[in-house]
Amino acid sequence: MTSSVPHLFTEIGQLVQPHLSEGDTRTPLTVTPNASLLLADGRVVAAGDADLVGTHPQAAAATTTSLQGRAVVPGLVDSHTHLVFAGERVNEFAMRTRGETYESIAAAGGGIVSSVAALQDCSLEALVAQSERRLSHMQQLGVTTVEIKSGYGLSPDLEAKQLDAIEILASNSPLTVLGTVLAHVVPKTMRSRREEYIEQFCEVVLPDAARREIVRYCDVFVENGAFTPDEATRISNKARELKLEVKLHVDQLHDGSGAALAAELGALSADHLEKTNAEGAKALADAGVVATILPGCGLFLGGDNWPAGRPLRDAGCSVAVATDCNPGSSMVLDLPLCGTLSATQCGLSLEEALWGITRGGAMALGLNDRGTLNPGERADFVVVDSSDWRKLFYTPGATPLFGVGIAGNLIRF
Ligand SMILES: [Zn+2]
Repeated sequence: MTSSVPHLFTEIGQLVQPHLSEGDTRTPLTVTPNASLLLADGRVVAAGDADLVGTHPQAAAATTTSLQGRAVVPGLVDSHTHLVFAGERVNEFAMRTRGETYESIAAAGGGIVSSVAALQDCSLEALVAQSERRLSHMQQLGVTTVEIKSGYGLSPDLEAKQLDAIEILASNSPLTVLGTVLAHVVPKTMRSRREEYIEQFCEVVLPDAARREIVRYCDVFVENGAFTPDEATRISNKARELKLEVKLHVDQLHDGSGAALAAELGALSADHLEKTNAEGAKALADAGVVATILPGCGLFLGGDNWPAGRPLRDAGCSVAVATDCNPGSSMVLDLPLCGTLSATQCGLSLEEALWGITRGGAMALGLNDRGTLNPGERADFVVVDSSDWRKLFYTPGATPLFGVGIAGNLIRF
C-alpha cells in the first residue's frame, strides 16, 4: 500500500502542527504558511516551511504534488465511538422530541435493551455492512483513526459478536480501527445476580477481548443504573492485569465523583464529564488523565447537556473531542461538527478544538505516532479545500475537504 518513493506535497497554504501537549494557552498549535510535507514509507519525513523542507536530501528524488494553497491538518482521531451496532433508534429520538421521559422510552422498548435485541437478530455480515457505511462516512469527514467499543452484547457471545465485527472492520478498512471492551450496564435478567454478571465479565468477556490484537482498552460506564465506582475499580484492575488500558464513562447524568475515580485509577481518559465539578477537573489535570468531551450528545439530546470544555481546560486538563457515535444519545458521525460544537457550546477556541480532534484524540488512545505531523509519525493528514484551516469548523455539515491522506496515500474526494 505504502510507497517507498518519497512524496513531496508542495504549495500548502497553511500547515497546522498541534503541539505535543496542550499547554496553558488557547493556541496549542503552530500554523506555518507556504509549507511543504515530505513523506516516505507511510511516515512523515519533514514538514514545515517550504524552503527548509525542499533542502531535505530525500526531497530531490520525490514525486511532487502541488496542493495549490490549500491547508493541511493532521488526520482526525475519533477516540470515543460505539460505531458497531445493529438497528436504529429513530423512534426513541422522535419520542424525546415530544417530551417523553427516559422511563417512558424504556417502557416502550427503547434504550440499550433495543440495541441488544437488534444485535442478537442481526447476522455478522449485516452488522459489518452497516458499520462499514458509517466508517466510510467518517473517512469522508477526515477521520483516519477511530476507536470502537463493544457493550451492546451484555453476554459473552454477543460481546464477542460485536468484537468480531470490529476486527473485520479493522482488517477491511484503510483507517486505523482500535477496539474497546465496554462494561455498559447489567442486563435486566441479571439484576438480582449482579455479582455473578460482573464475575462473568471479568473472567470470560475481558480475557476474550484482551486476546484480540486490535482490542487495546477497557471502558466502564460509571453512573446510577450502570456500574458503581467500586465495581468499576474491580473491572479496571482485572483489565490492567490483562494488559488493557483503562477508560471510563463518567459524570454524564450527575456528578458521581467519576473524574476523581478516573484520576485514582490512572485511566488513559475520562469521557463525558458533563457534570464534573472543579475538584474533579483538577484531579484529572493533576493525574494527567485526558478529559474527553462528547458534544454530539448535547446536540442530539437537547436540553442542557453540554460538557464544560472551558473549565476543564482552565483546570489544566488536556481536552480531547470525540463523536460518541451511538444510536441512542449521539447518532453523530461528524467529528468536525463536534469540533465546532466544542467551540460554540463548550467554550474551546478553534485552536483547542482542532487540538482536541487530532493530538488530543491520539493521547486519549495512548498513541504517540499520530495527531501531529512531526518526522517519524504516520503520514495521516487532511487537506482542507480552503487556504484557511479554520474552514474545517466554519460550515458545519458542509465541511470543505479536498481529500485525506492515509499512511501517505492521498485519497481525493
Ligand atoms: Zn460513549
